Amino acid sequence: MPSQASFPTPNLPGAPVAPVGSRGGAARPDGRDGTAEADGAGGAGRPDGTDGTNGTDRTSSPDGTTSPDGTNGTNGTDGPNGTARTTSTNGRDRASSTSGTALGSDDALDVVIIGAGPAGLTAAYELARRGKTCTVLESDDIVGGISRTVERDGWRFDVGGHRFFTKVKAVEEFWHEILSGNEFMLRPRMSRIYYQGKYYDYPLKPLNALRNLGPVESVRCVASYAWARVHPPPDQSTFEGWVAARFGWRLYEHFFKTYTEKVWGYPGSELQADWAAQRIKDLNLRKAISNALFPKKGQREITTLIDQFEYPRFGPGMMWERCCEKVEAAGSKVLMKARVSRICCADGRAVAVESTTDGAVTEHRSSAVISSMPLSELVRAVDPPPPPEVLAAADDLHYRDHITIALVVPESAGFPDNWVYVHDPGVKMGRIQNFGRWSPYMVKDGSACLGLEYFVFEGDEMWSCADEDLVELGKREIGRLGLVDPEAVEAGYVVRMPKAYPYYDADYKRNVETLRKWLEVNVANLHPVGRNGMHRYNNQDHSMYTAMLTVENIMGASHDVWSVNVEEEYHEQMKPADSRSPAEERSGRAAPVLPKRDRSVQ
Ligand SMILES: Cc1cc2nc3c(=O)[nH]c(=O)nc-3n(C[C@H](O)[C@H](O)[C@H](O)COP(=O)(O)OP(=O)(O)OC[C@H]3O[C@@H](n4cnc5c(N)ncnc54)[C@H](O)[C@@H]3O)c2cc1C
Repeated sequence: MPSQASFPTPNLPGAPVAPVGSRGGAARPDGRDGTAEADGAGGAGRPDGTDGTNGTDRTSSPDGTTSPDGTNGTNGTDGPNGTARTTSTNGRDRASSTSGTALGSDDALDVVIIGAGPAGLTAAYELARRGKTCTVLESDDIVGGISRTVERDGWRFDVGGHRFFTKVKAVEEFWHEILSGNEFMLRPRMSRIYYQGKYYDYPLKPLNALRNLGPVESVRCVASYAWARVHPPPDQSTFEGWVAARFGWRLYEHFFKTYTEKVWGYPGSELQADWAAQRIKDLNLRKAISNALFPKKGQREITTLIDQFEYPRFGPGMMWERCCEKVEAAGSKVLMKARVSRICCADGRAVAVESTTDGAVTEHRSSAVISSMPLSELVRAVDPPPPPEVLAAADDLHYRDHITIALVVPESAGFPDNWVYVHDPGVKMGRIQNFGRWSPYMVKDGSACLGLEYFVFEGDEMWSCADEDLVELGKREIGRLGLVDPEAVEAGYVVRMPKAYPYYDADYKRNVETLRKWLEVNVANLHPVGRNGMHRYNNQDHSMYTAMLTVENIMGASHDVWSVNVEEEYHEQMKPADSRSPAEERSGRAAPVLPKRDRSVQ
C-alpha cells in the first residue's frame, strides 16, 4: 500500500522514539538482544536471577510489600520511615562483585543518589525493591528532571512531549508497576510536518509530499534531483551536501534544512554527514518513490508499531511523582532543593556528598554514589579535584537547551496531531505540542494548550528574553503560520530547560572517555547514570536501564553500564531488522556531530 511507505527524515531529534524493525531492546551488556526472551531472563538480565517478565515476582513494591527476592521491602532497615540508615543484611551474600563499589560483607549500604529524574528515582526504587534505603538529592523543587510535568494555573505541560515507549522489558514492567489501569493510558500517535500552510505526513512519504507541493514544484523537485545526480555537490561530507546529492537541492531546502538547523543551531553545511548517512543509508528519491509504490514486506507492520504510545494520565511527571512517593514510603529520603556541590573523596572512594539547600550545607555519608547530574559538573564537584586534563575534558562538554512557550488557545484552534514539526524558515519555533492530544487531563475543558518548542543555547538572546516577550514572540509566530489568531491566545507560560540535549561535537566521545576512565580508577564507587549523567542521548528508558544495571552492580553484578546503547533504538524511520547489518546496529548515533562550541559561551 503506497501510503505506508516512507522515506526517512534524519533531522527530527527530540522525539525519535520508534521501534526499529523487530530487533529490540537496549544492547544488553551481555550482548544479547533485549527483546529475545528465549533465555527466560525477562529481557533485562536481572541480578537476582528472577524473571522480570512473570509479574508475580515483581508485584512487589518498595512501599514495604514483598520484594522480588522474597523479603519484605523494609526488611533490614531499622525503620521504614526513612529516619535511619540501612543496616540491611539483604544482599550481603551477593556482594562478591568485581565492581569497585559492591557492598562488601561488612559494609552498611549508604547509597546517595544525585538527581530525582527518571534515572535517579529508578535507582532509588530498585534499591527499595531489594530492601535498601537511600538518600536522593535533587536540586530542583520538582521531580522528574527533563521528564517532569510542569503545572501552571491548572494547565499541565511536558518539556517537549514524552512518549513512553521501550523495547526494554524491565523498563516497561517498571512503568506498569508504578502506574496501573487507566493511570497509564495507551494513546494514538499522530504527528505531521506543517510547512507553507499545509500538513505533510511524518515520516515523510514521497507521494504525499510531492502531491502537497503541487505539480509545478513537484516537477522542479524531480528536476532538481536529476540535476544533483548529474552534478553532485562536490562536498558530501556535510549534511547539506550529502542529502542534496540524494534528494536534490529543492527537497533538501523544503524538508531537511530548516528543522535540522533550528534544532542544532548550525547551518547544514557545518553539520557532518555521517549521522544522516547512517540513517538514510543508500536511499535516494528514486528508491523512496519506488518503495512507496511497491512497499517491501514488513514495512506496514513496522510503521503501525509507532502509531501509539503509553502516557501517564497527568503527564510524564506523574510517573516520577508516584515513584518518588513509593520510594519515600519504603524509607528512603528524597531531599528537594538540595544541590550537590561537593563529592568528598578519600582512598579512591566517595565517602560523603555535600548538598546545599538555601545556603546550608549538609553532608551525607556514602558507601556508593549514583549520579544523574551532568557528567561535567559531577567531575568538577569531586574533591580533591581531578588533574587539569580531566577538568579540561569536563569543561569541553556542552549542551543544547530548550524553551517551551505554552499558549492557551480556544479548542477549535487545536489540531488532531499530538505534535507538528514546523519547517517554515520564517519562524524560530521547531515543533508545536498539542498537550490535550497527549492526554485530555492535561488541559481544561473548552481550551487547547499548545507548546511551542524552541531549541536554544543557554544564555543566548532568546534564553535571556523576558517571559512576557517570549509569550509575545510565540503569539506572533503562531499567527504568522496561520494556525491561531494571536488575539485568541488566552494565556501564555514559559518553561526553560537547561541542558536538554547533550551536545555531540568532534571531541565529545574522547572527553566522555577521559572522565569515565578517571572516575573508574579514582572514585570507583561513584556511578554516572542517565542522560546528562553519561552525556548520552538517552531517552527515559535507557536512562532508567543504566540506573537498573548500576543498582545490580552495587548489589554484586558486574555489568558494563556504558555498553547500553541508546542510539540503535532511536531511529524515527523504521527498517526491518533483517535489513540491518550488525555494524549498523552498533554504530547508530542519535545526533549529528556539531561544530565545536566556543568555551567562553558555556
Ligand atoms: C525535548 C525533549 C523531548 C524528549 N522526549 C522524550 C520522549 O518522548 N520519550 C522519552 O522516553 N524521553 C524523552 N526525552 C528524554 C528524557 O527527558 C530523558 O531521557 C530523561 O529525563 C533523562 O533522565 P535522567 O534522570 O537521566 O536525567 P534528568 O531528567 O536530566 O534528571 C536529572 C535530575 O538531576 C537533577 N540535578 C542536576 N544537577 C544536580 C545537582 N548538582 N544536585 C542535585 N540534583 C541535580 C536535575 O534537577 C534533574 O532533576 C526527551 C528529552 C527532551 C529534551
